[in-house]
Amino acid sequence: MVMRIIGLIDRQSGEPSMIDLRSDLMSWRPPAVAVAASLAASRPPAMAPGEDPYERKLYEVLSDELGVEAVLLMPTCTMANQIAIRVHLPEGGQLAAAPLAHILTVEARATALTRVGACPLPTDEGHPSPAVVDQFLQDRDRNIAALVWLENTHMLSAGSVIPVGWQSRIAAACREDGSALHLDGSRLWNAAAAQGLQMTDLTQGCDTVSISLNKAIGAPVGSVLAGSREAIDAAVRWRQTLGGEWRPIGTIAAAAIAALDDWRVRLETDLAMTASLVRGIANRLGEESVRPAPTNLIFLNRVGGDAPQFVEVLTRRGVQTTVVAANIVRLAIHSGVREREVAKIIEAVTATYAELEAAA
Ligand SMILES: *Cc1c(COP(=O)(O)O)cnc(C)c1O
Repeated sequence: MVMRIIGLIDRQSGEPSMIDLRSDLMSWRPPAVAVAASLAASRPPAMAPGEDPYERKLYEVLSDELGVEAVLLMPTCTMANQIAIRVHLPEGGQLAAAPLAHILTVEARATALTRVGACPLPTDEGHPSPAVVDQFLQDRDRNIAALVWLENTHMLSAGSVIPVGWQSRIAAACREDGSALHLDGSRLWNAAAAQGLQMTDLTQGCDTVSISLNKAIGAPVGSVLAGSREAIDAAVRWRQTLGGEWRPIGTIAAAAIAALDDWRVRLETDLAMTASLVRGIANRLGEESVRPAPTNLIFLNRVGGDAPQFVEVLTRRGVQTTVVAANIVRLAIHSGVREREVAKIIEAVTATYAELEAAA
């Protein structure tokens, strides 16, 4: 049986037929991740939260890496975000975020269940500027609690990063106003690698931060909510309420610890491949065919609105991608992509353009 499972790991056994760029959830899992998970799975499980040695170790390592007081494992980044809203806002509170923020788009139905009001902020490449946040705080109804929400990297803005200096100014304004600040940092690792910054630089000033472990860095499953001791204590209660308290948790925590090793090296390789792909595609198909990709997400422009057909043809040519909108195709670059596949991807994209052009 074990051999049958090992047989499914195609990275070791030659070329997989498909190059899967649908999501960075498809990133490569370092072998140490599987070893750590199975070692942890073979010892007797712990019962109560905080009793498991791997869980405690993960929180210690991550608190350090992120520069926060406390960390809490969550099944998904969606749950981490949804709990953050509940920790900071009462029902009827005001959630101020970019109109295309994940929390107001992909998570719209989950967010509706929190019964808070969305206040969309104008943005520059997906990020509200300090001036925009100042204006919001100045104009807001002081009888209604507010939560300012940032997203780094901003998924629906082709993985754009928050400009350096913006977050500390926004954090200072929120603190002075008495409003909370949350950062959806599902891909904060990618921002840190792209900007050459430490994770501690990017969490600074936020009351809470949510971060995916199962995207960039290749943990098999899970996300964390990080922040002050007080916020995380409240999050522990919400996680139990919503059924997100994993028991036993050691296997998941041990795998995540192993995935944290050398993450920056892997993400720097992803960045280099992303840059080569964007350059290659722009060279072959023109600058306007592809958006700038500051991190690991490449957005192809399909001004005619044929993104679904484009994805279909490209899949037939061996590269799986996703439709972000009728006029945008997304390629998520991750450590499961091999450098020698870069040229193949450029070929497949070019051929797909030509095929759709011929059919038009
Ligand atoms: C993927 C993603 C999430 C949700 O993560 P899940 O673990 O799939 O729930 C939240 N925010 C952003 C920006 C994301 O890209």
